[in-house]
Amino acid sequence: MYAKNAWEKYTDNQYKDIMAFNEGYKDFITKGKTERACVSEAILLAKKAGFKDIKDFDSLKAGDKVYITNKEKNIALFVMGEKPLTDGMRILGAHIDSPRMDLKQNPLYESEGFALLDTHYYGGVKKYQWVTLPLSLVGVVVKKDGTVLNISIGENEDDPVVGITDLLIHLSADQLQKTAAKVIEGEALDVNIGSIPLKDEEKNAVKANILQLLKDTYDIEEEDFLSAEIEVVPSGKARDFGLDRSMVMGYGHDDRVCAYTSLMAILDIENPQYTSCCILVDKEEIGSVGATGAQSLFFENTVAELLHLCHDDSFLSLRHTLANSMMLSSDVSAGVDPLFKEVNDMKNAAFLGHGIVFNKYTGSRGKSGSNDAMPEYMARLRKIMDEENIYFQTAELGKVDQGGGGTIAYILGNYNMNVIDAGIAVLNMHAPFEIVSKVDVYEGYLAYKVFLQKA
Ligand code: MN
Ligand code: MN
Repeated sequence: MYAKNAWEKYTDNQYKDIMAFNEGYKDFITKGKTERACVSEAILLAKKAGFKDIKDFDSLKAGDKVYITNKEKNIALFVMGEKPLTDGMRILGAHIDSPRMDLKQNPLYESEGFALLDTHYYGGVKKYQWVTLPLSLVGVVVKKDGTVLNISIGENEDDPVVGITDLLIHLSADQLQKTAAKVIEGEALDVNIGSIPLKDEEKNAVKANILQLLKDTYDIEEEDFLSAEIEVVPSGKARDFGLDRSMVMGYGHDDRVCAYTSLMAILDIENPQYTSCCILVDKEEIGSVGATGAQSLFFENTVAELLHLCHDDSFLSLRHTLANSMMLSSDVSAGVDPLFKEVNDMKNAAFLGHGIVFNKYTGSRGKSGSNDAMPEYMARLRKIMDEENIYFQTAELGKVDQGGGGTIAYILGNYNMNVIDAGIAVLNMHAPFEIVSKVDVYEGYLAYKVFLQKA
């Protein structure tokens, strides 16, 4: 069903399914505040659904459910199909990194009686949105001996929170003359973490006290920050949003909402025709680069491993498997905000509650950087969505030349496979707390499942 309000599809009884599914989602993003945490949660859910680590297989046959992880930050899951791999796979790909601030390698300093942590923001953010909020410190510190310490401060209700201060309105005459891009500068995104001086310490006593606390609580020395990866993220749980509880407000919908729905879709798949795949990647928000981004050879190498376990080591088989595959690049879209309608072409905009959004192309300045999917592929998808009564809509990211953005679609497209962006509409995208519609979350999950089963 094209471009209609999806709540109308469901009777009261089925709202229960929508609400129940979203409880699972809220739990996932509440626990999954880092890439590593998302991968850990995904492994737990996958094992419960009968998936096994690739290391546990000597060979693979139709119906087998297998997962493989990469450096704790990627996971790829497969349900082996009836048809040979070389006929292609049906792939769902989402990213599990979200905008935030990362601690610098030398973060800790003292100023005016406070201990602060210096950060470098990650991904595209409106910096002024990240001040005066309760924030958490989550991630890992790796000691020289290789020990990995998991850090989570601010996520339990009894934990303290940290945060970034802003200037009081009373003294903001100069600040308020600045443009929004400059009101809070990147270097000013420093996190306040304490104010008690260490007894009998003359210089930087507050910093010394924090170091003492880190040593006592976590066995962390100041130099251990050199090999740490600590993310500064909004504190607290994902919550129902709206008096009618129709939406979810939480941190990291982009793109954990598509990651969770894609994951749940593949966990439901039994004995598919074509091998089903779900891959969750890192680093999308900074260009999909590096060993754990979508541009990494991890995925291609994994497909080669699968072929090997199917007793096919031909180089050509790998190429055929990739080129014959079809993919939904599961990534969020911008939903129309009633307070900022003017940035959209309303005929080609996504609305919360209207189901999964297909973006034939993304990009900016004349579709630059976009994958621009084939119309033949879109026709095939329209057909199966309509046959299965999935509510879907089509959109592009705002008016022409209003801005733009990219996804991982073009990267997998480079294998000569058909790829299109398909995801869930979001309000407040890249803000500390984003909003999605619960019916879109559920309809997205159904759409992904139909894609794996029928495309
Ligand atoms: Mn995204
Ligand atoms: Mn994004």
